Amino acid sequence: MRTLALSFAILAAAASSALAQQPKPLVFSRADTLRGSNGPGRDWWDASFYDLRVAVHPADSTIRGSNAITYRVLKPAKVMQIDLQVPMQIDSIVQDGKPLAFQRDSNAFFVTLIAPQTTASRKTVRVYFHGKPRAAKNPPWDGGFIWRTDSLGNLWVATANEGLGASVWWPDKDFGADEPDSQRVAITVPNPMIDVSNGRQRSVKKNSDGTTTYEWFVSEPINNYSIAVNAGSYAHFSDVYNGERGKLTMDYYPLAYHLDTAKTQFRQAIPMMKCFEHWFGPYPWYKDGYKLIEAPHLGMEHQSAVAYGNAFKNGYRGRDLSGTGLGLEWDFIIIHETAHEWWGNNISMRDAADMWIHESFANYAEGLYTECQDGKEAGAKYIIGSRRNIQNDMPIIGTYGVNNEGSGDMYYKGGSMLHMIRQLLNDDEKWRAVLRGLNSTFWHQTVTGAQVQEYINRKSGMDFSRVFEQYLTTTMIPTLEYKVEADQLAYRWTNVVPGFAMPVRASVGAHAMELLRPAETWKTYPGKVAATDSVTVDPNFYVLTKTVAVPRTP
Ligand SMILES: [Zn+2]
Repeated sequence: MRTLALSFAILAAAASSALAQQPKPLVFSRADTLRGSNGPGRDWWDASFYDLRVAVHPADSTIRGSNAITYRVLKPAKVMQIDLQVPMQIDSIVQDGKPLAFQRDSNAFFVTLIAPQTTASRKTVRVYFHGKPRAAKNPPWDGGFIWRTDSLGNLWVATANEGLGASVWWPDKDFGADEPDSQRVAITVPNPMIDVSNGRQRSVKKNSDGTTTYEWFVSEPINNYSIAVNAGSYAHFSDVYNGERGKLTMDYYPLAYHLDTAKTQFRQAIPMMKCFEHWFGPYPWYKDGYKLIEAPHLGMEHQSAVAYGNAFKNGYRGRDLSGTGLGLEWDFIIIHETAHEWWGNNISMRDAADMWIHESFANYAEGLYTECQDGKEAGAKYIIGSRRNIQNDMPIIGTYGVNNEGSGDMYYKGGSMLHMIRQLLNDDEKWRAVLRGLNSTFWHQTVTGAQVQEYINRKSGMDFSRVFEQYLTTTMIPTLEYKVEADQLAYRWTNVVPGFAMPVRASVGAHAMELLRPAETWKTYPGKVAATDSVTVDPNFYVLTKTVAVPRTP
């Protein structure tokens, strides 16, 4: 989840203007670099445990708490960068019982350490903070804290901060490449609110001041933006899924008055687990379990605690993004957000520029789920239908080092690219081994997009480098040009990156579908053709065709 609303906005804007606008050059600030790169205040330490304790005060929309950051020292250093965004405040930072001096540089704090930071030692620094965190403007896309009431007037509070970052409400190293190995999330809320966060509930403690502390514990690595508050008047029911790694607990937390509706709609979760485990390998978080939690926003892939706000309807807010009708056969938020447990949470991007690792595979997973339900042809139809959302406004890969995401095409165009790679492999078991292999090879790891590409090339035994380059770094749609001269037909790729030679399934005239191997130079089709013959490309390939008129010689 992330750029969907944005991409619909772009679609509307593009439709109203005949001329596509040139994308503006991107300008990045010092704050973007501090946030998005492994700078000198970050590269010497590796977060191993966050002990986060936060009291939430809906009465004045403020929070107060502490985060004890335990880390391994990778090399000696004196200055540590901790991220916490304006307008949140740090009250004090303590190490070994001593307060430390720190300086603010917009959304980053630079802490001067006193104790020697010896390589390979483990240290803890505790950060006390408070403030009125940014209220979400249009969650989950433009996120932050969400202060709401449900339709019965009960308080309902949640967080959604993908892209924006966890540091919008709690202090941490807000950098994708460094996930803690485990994390405590202890959230204190006014009675009678119930908080459901990530991982497993460890304790519930009633406090004397009319509040309750819900302590949750994540025992496996987690990306920072997944950590979430979901506090409201929840009911709870559960199920057990017998999966590839044994018994997986499935826990559901709808608002109490949605219990019956949720019991029906959430039945989709078990067949989904079965489908995704078949294609992607074991669910990555058996220790922490799986949860669906009703949220006052559309949804988000919060690890082991998927936020759900799709109104218990199939489709995407009741609509089918693919235009085929197939998207109405399942609940977009359950399927898409849960796919991120593999693509995004198990395998996480090190840099936001590589977000296609999350969204291209999550979009592709929607097609696979359709395939599990309705067969292979239906799955392909869903992916092909989803292409109507492609903008080709800018490249899918963003700018590295500045927390910059690329085009929203990371969903549909990225999904179509993966679908095409499957066509080229032409071996579904091998393709499944690639998808499962990615999840087992990069199990609980952060990766670069280049690592994912390299793995696909190696495991498949085919070189897709130019295919990745074409679809991920340019906005050009490969175009198969052809011309007929006498009884001969010639074809070539245009609108492609240098060296692009992707094979494509097509039929020429009355000939059957076959694999053509166009290059940038003209190639002659070996069969005989008629002057009126044309080339029809298999719709599973996201390419264009164009006939080139041959000037008649007198
Ligand atoms: Zn997503």
